[in-house]
Amino acid sequence: MFVAGNPILYVDPDGKELHTKGDSTTVSGAISYMSGLSEKEFRTRYSSSNGRVGFNFGGLDVESNEGLKLLRDLITSEKRYLFQMEDVTDPAAGEEVLSEYGRMPGDDRPDKDLNRLAPGYNGVVSVGTNVTFVDEVRGLEVSKGNIAWHGLAECYARTDGRQKWAYPDRILSNVGNWTDYEGAHHTAMDRQFRRVAQGYGSGHIIYFPHAIRMTLR
Ligand SMILES: [Zn+2]
Repeated sequence: MFVAGNPILYVDPDGKELHTKGDSTTVSGAISYMSGLSEKEFRTRYSSSNGRVGFNFGGLDVESNEGLKLLRDLITSEKRYLFQMEDVTDPAAGEEVLSEYGRMPGDDRPDKDLNRLAPGYNGVVSVGTNVTFVDEVRGLEVSKGNIAWHGLAECYARTDGRQKWAYPDRILSNVGNWTDYEGAHHTAMDRQFRRVAQGYGSGHIIYFPHAIRMTLR
């Protein structure tokens, strides 16, 4: 439920919420990046109680800010989400450091492992804090806020949108040796493009998830 213009603090009473885990400054920094708001404004609106996120959307034009919209999607969803940013220890962590788990029938991802889905949650996004993310196609480091924003958008598309990561029979385009398929990854990119067009974010869109090199610090 959302009423535009009304200052409502979203702590969903039925227990379907957005939870966070990890250092509170790191976590709120990533959510602040996603919101596109100034740090000052973000702080007046964001709250966290034992990792349970509340946010006052009152007076904000959520429809013209895709990051805020995603935050609202995650908080008001009937699904339970966990967003965690913590050090990872496994040097061969790979997908462990950037992972999204949605409880999906017919899950097609190569990295699917629903056993790793934290109990009580429908969707989990983990971003390793001691990891450097580099887009090898463009040779650029990708910020953890950007990684988190993509991961959360994709996880939402998978968990609430019930999309597979990609549908191999639904090709949207080919760029070089990368084929873009309809699916949750593409939906996340779409939201990233929209956000950039709205004037938020770095413009670094993660087209090539398998070319993201993840190095433990
Ligand atoms: Zn993706």
